[in-house]
Amino acid sequence: MEASLLRQCPLLLPQNRAKTVYEGFISVQGRDFHLRIELPEDLQMKNARLLCSWQLKTILNGYHQIVQQRMQHSPDLMSFLMELKMVLETGSDSTGISMKEVALKKKQELCPPPPPPQFYSSLVEEIGILGWDKLVFVDTCLSTIKLKAEDASGRKHLLTLKLKAKYPAESPDCFVDFPVPFSVSWTPQSSLISIYGQFLAALESLKAFWDVMDEIDEKTWVLEPEKPTRSATARRIALGNNASIHIEVDPKHPTMLPESCFLGADHVVKPLGIKLSRNIHLWDPENSLLQNLKDVLEIDFPARTNLEKSDFSMDCGICYSYQLDGAIPDQVCDNPQCAQPFHQICLYEWLRGLLTSRQSFNIIFGECPYCSKPITLKMSGRKS
Ligand SMILES: [Zn+2]
Ligand SMILES: [Zn+2]
Repeated sequence: MEASLLRQCPLLLPQNRAKTVYEGFISVQGRDFHLRIELPEDLQMKNARLLCSWQLKTILNGYHQIVQQRMQHSPDLMSFLMELKMVLETGSDSTGISMKEVALKKKQELCPPPPPPQFYSSLVEEIGILGWDKLVFVDTCLSTIKLKAEDASGRKHLLTLKLKAKYPAESPDCFVDFPVPFSVSWTPQSSLISIYGQFLAALESLKAFWDVMDEIDEKTWVLEPEKPTRSATARRIALGNNASIHIEVDPKHPTMLPESCFLGADHVVKPLGIKLSRNIHLWDPENSLLQNLKDVLEIDFPARTNLEKSDFSMDCGICYSYQLDGAIPDQVCDNPQCAQPFHQICLYEWLRGLLTSRQSFNIIFGECPYCSKPITLKMSGRKS
């Protein structure tokens, strides 16, 4: 026992003269893991720091407490390393606490049982037919595959596939960045080629939606989301004067009138609402969404070319920041001379703290912190 333990002893070498830093490898089940131990000046193990590679960290995940405890009680570095090795090797430490179950579970997570050989051969053949240039990523055990495609407008898209060991008997899980669910039809005769075909067909059907969204993103100032994904159907577009329009586009009917609401001071927003309802008959689904919005609202959206985003993204007058827990200042003082924007939550806290404020249902009436003119805050559950 003693001899065999010594033989497999972890190899750590001091890295400095004071012998407070050790680096080296610990070998577990035939694999070597890098680790580094930093000791305090008194070389006491109980105040040591263990730094290890992420692979080793993954294995140690369930043993954090035991490792900490062994560190507290080990008289010196060598005995701690022997303890650590025992924990890693057998799933129990010298006190005999059995960690077998945890250890087994961990092992399974690390390396799933290998699939049958035809799994690999059929997969490699399918990728060959599809074209290796479509392959962007594949992991070492061929269980995750990323394929790329370009749509008719030249946008690049990714399809991530998680293959199960029973592939192709079982359908792989597909992950895409689409605004609609992507469900593949799968038979045991299906292959990567059929999934890829369905992916291309879905790209084709979403082309009009992305064309609409791209035009908005290119030609207007989108305040939210900051970096729209291909699945994002909502946009908040700057209109100038601290006002904005929030639209929710239907990916299946992208040029139809979207669900929309205005945000900003009454004197700016009210006339826009009136125009929208007066001109609604002008809406023409043959035109792009942006063109329709311009026609119906009788406005030109502030263009990206001659303005900075900061021209629209005015900080909240209470907390002096722009982003606050994902919200932007969407409450604006109605006094045209003031027009100061606030976060809903900031204005709510402010008004609630004032004796002069009144509340009726979800509406609070108070005074603007800037100009002292009356201000109304309608509390909404809308995430903005
Ligand atoms: Zn604020
Ligand atoms: Zn004001």
